[in-house]
Amino acid sequence: MEYVDFDDNLASNPLAGNKVDANEVQAAVLRILKAVGEDPERDGLKRTPERVARMYGELLAGYQTDPATMVNEAIFDVKYDEMVIVRDIEFYSLCEHHLLPFMARVHVAYLPDGKVVGLSKIPRIVDLFARRLQVQERMTRQIADFIRDLLHPQGVAVVVEALHLCMMMRGVQKHNARMTTSAMHGAFRSNLATRQEFLDNISRGATQLQI
Ligand SMILES: [Zn+2]
Repeated sequence: MEYVDFDDNLASNPLAGNKVDANEVQAAVLRILKAVGEDPERDGLKRTPERVARMYGELLAGYQTDPATMVNEAIFDVKYDEMVIVRDIEFYSLCEHHLLPFMARVHVAYLPDGKVVGLSKIPRIVDLFARRLQVQERMTRQIADFIRDLLHPQGVAVVVEALHLCMMMRGVQKHNARMTTSAMHGAFRSNLATRQEFLDNISRGATQLQI
């Protein structure tokens, strides 16, 4: 697939450093409640601005963590040069166009060249990029670029399948609600057999992503 250029490629600057300003979020949510004609003082809504602010603190925590620091101690020198595949990693993120969730499954593979990263770190890398305002295409590429720059492997492949609530809830273009994106580097791009081995692996026993 062809790469699309995005306005803010955070992959080149993984630690954006944004801190969620809880007071600002609270004030903004209060304004939204009033703007949609609600009574922010009624019982059910009284603490909603505060809850939403806390929620964004969690869901957007990925801006404050430096992925390189997170995996630092989990990089090992090895002679292993077979394909490493971690499939079916589930994650949730927020689409930056509507601030609604997309729920997704990602498959990550790389062909080591002397270095591997601890397996448990791969889902954490995914999570870190998921906890930002995202578009699926960019996130797919950020994961691939990050692993490429971290391990300098012979190749990296990332495939993301996602269901976008902004499509499903709004009832527009429902057929587009399910989207698959991929990013390939090195051997996965240049070597058809390598790419095929990966694609065969992730399609084996695959189930339809569901909510
Ligand atoms: Zn959206």
